[in-house]
Amino acid sequence: MPTPILRLALPSPLRRLFDYHAPPGVPTARLRPGVRLRVPFGRREVVGVLVELSEHSEVPPDKLKAALELLDPCPLLLPSLLRLCRWTAHYYQHSLGDTFGWALPALLRQGEPAERCQERWWHLATDARPDDPRLARAPRQREALQTLAQHPHGVPQALLGKLRLNKASLDLLLAKGLLRTEIRHHAPRERHGSWLLQAELPLNDEQREAVEAVRAGFGGFNAFLLAGVTGSGKTEVYLQLIHQVLEAGRQALVLIPEINLGPQTLERFTRRFNARVALLHSGIGDRERLDAWLAARDGEADIVIGTRSALFTPLKHPGLIIVDEEHDASYKQQEGLRYHARDLAVVRARQEEIPVLLGSATPSLESLHNAHAGRYALLRLRQRAGQARPPRFLRLDVKSRSLDAGISPPLQQAIARTLAAGQQVLVFLNRRGFAPTLLCHDCGWIALCPRCDARMTLHQRQRELRCHHCGHSERQPTACPQCAQVDLRPVGAGTERAEERLATLFPDHPVLRIDRDSTARKESLSRLLATIHRGEPCLLVGTQMIAKGHHFPRVTLVAILDADGGLFSADFRASERMAQLIVQVAGRAGRAEEPGTVIIQTHLADHPLLVQLAEQGYFAFAEQALAERRAAGLPPFAHLALLRAEAHRPGQAEDFLEQAADEARQLLATLQLSSLELLGPVPAPMERRAGRHRAQLLLQAFGRAPLHRLLGPWLVALERLPGTRTVRWSLDVDPIDL
Ligand code: ADP
Ligand code: ZN
Ligand code: ZN
Repeated sequence: MPTPILRLALPSPLRRLFDYHAPPGVPTARLRPGVRLRVPFGRREVVGVLVELSEHSEVPPDKLKAALELLDPCPLLLPSLLRLCRWTAHYYQHSLGDTFGWALPALLRQGEPAERCQERWWHLATDARPDDPRLARAPRQREALQTLAQHPHGVPQALLGKLRLNKASLDLLLAKGLLRTEIRHHAPRERHGSWLLQAELPLNDEQREAVEAVRAGFGGFNAFLLAGVTGSGKTEVYLQLIHQVLEAGRQALVLIPEINLGPQTLERFTRRFNARVALLHSGIGDRERLDAWLAARDGEADIVIGTRSALFTPLKHPGLIIVDEEHDASYKQQEGLRYHARDLAVVRARQEEIPVLLGSATPSLESLHNAHAGRYALLRLRQRAGQARPPRFLRLDVKSRSLDAGISPPLQQAIARTLAAGQQVLVFLNRRGFAPTLLCHDCGWIALCPRCDARMTLHQRQRELRCHHCGHSERQPTACPQCAQVDLRPVGAGTERAEERLATLFPDHPVLRIDRDSTARKESLSRLLATIHRGEPCLLVGTQMIAKGHHFPRVTLVAILDADGGLFSADFRASERMAQLIVQVAGRAGRAEEPGTVIIQTHLADHPLLVQLAEQGYFAFAEQALAERRAAGLPPFAHLALLRAEAHRPGQAEDFLEQAADEARQLLATLQLSSLELLGPVPAPMERRAGRHRAQLLLQAFGRAPLHRLLGPWLVALERLPGTRTVRWSLDVDPIDL
């Protein structure tokens, strides 16, 4: 029997597999899909994943190279993960190799052994001598050898730095056979006793119905949308379902938005369960991530909790996937592989034949639409658990009222009353910095970013102008760069200005600011939160950072300083996001005895969406918004794909997209696809960003199938277009910002 050709996915943007001969001396039986191999690729060596074996290759035999090394004794990737990655690569029209790059822990991509709780130890080879002639002209290697000679039991990888051992020198010594390495293991964690550390709360009727419904669906794929107002006890529903999953000997995967992954959330799981919890988020180290990944794969982690990319964690005994705050935009990756972890969670659950539970107080219009269409079962929690009552919403028309750092006189009075009553106030403003613009009162000059079509934000405390789009920053000018006059005025308000003004207006109460600037240091957020939880009257000013995850039981007044952005924006999702933010911020308030009040400042107090939201709640708003989307032919009633392009010179991106549009039109004719429309190319909403000129082309389709029939061949054609060398382009399937 001839040895088969190996077809590998490699870390390359090219949407294809690469063929190799088997590495010399490796028996064919060990070459199974899902193993990694080291292969020569151009002038580099890379780590690839074996996807399939084939008898033939298109590559002429004399051009076909052999793989260098088999890295895994048995497949690293469970077939289920391999299938999920293939589905993902196909759906998002992304290279499979690069998809693995996003899905796998970094150490595995780099070819580290897939061994858990292990460490590499460095030793002297038995016959190594410090005066080896090959080191005569290599003082650093000689030194390293001498250091290691002083440690007869070897040195663990983690201590190399402390001993001033340089990895490059060690690798050279290893190559000369003067060193050897060894992998040492720690024992896997065992688990004993009952699953519960803490009694479960008695559920209210709605919670019980939700738990029962999901439990009844444990046998196979079933999707549920748990729409429960903030504080209604969704987390308790998750916990009791996870308990059931654990009792059944299975694993639970819980996805949460990046910003929620505070110690608070995690504690609720670790306090409840005697279970092995694997944590996967952007803050953990590579080694920890690999250990968690392997523990999940081998069934030695019972609960996996993580942010977006944790969706790709393999599970030996999958039982349930939970996506908390499913509406959160952080589930959509905005670079490289532009996947949506919530959508993939549903795909994965279907593939693995397990239930998936999406939870939110403010479900996305996509998920509500799926619930209406019968694809998801809708479970509702309408009441807050415990005694807390829902907040009251007031629309405050600020037309022709004077705004003082964004604060109108009636709002000021409401704040004063609340503080006088010994309660706390939360002021929400989704804009960091002091003011969104600096303006010259004499000539009208405004501070623009030199690299973007955007205004720069004034950060007064640092005396800086900063671009929030590209990170560019400059000293705050003392005179106008255009007319040299000195009357430069900040226009509008950011959190810094609101904080400053509120501190002047209410000098007897602390004002705490919570945004990315004030919490840049790790301990500052917990210090701010501790002050708030002491419960004395105070003012909180913050961006969307405060809208998530935290509970502020003593806050009884929530002020939304500016709801207009969500109603004016050109992005059709802006109103949905605004409504979600308002409801989420409002949900932080009045959890204890006192009910809360939410004051929404706006110039559009009679806007139907705002009226619906304030008077009838999020669901009424969502119905109205869905009706508008249906009428306009927008998602979730249509499917979109966005081709973005950017280039250094003006016009280049548009030219490329014009060619792309021509290709698409030809394909539409050949494939006889008619329910598809091309919109554009048009300049991107911010045409210039970080010095590049950007444009985009939108594809709109009324079915997913025709859209995907076009995308496959279209991308093949795009890869061949002449412009690809000067233009950076990317395809975004189901984009969430246009
Ligand atoms: P959500 O996740 O929907 O915002 P949580 O699960 O955080 O809500 O619950 C809000 C509060 O209500 C928590 O303090 C929680 O302990 C409490 N709670 C939840 N369910 C119950 C219940 N059945 N009985 C009493 N208190 C509950
Ligand atoms: Zn000027
Ligand atoms: Zn910029």
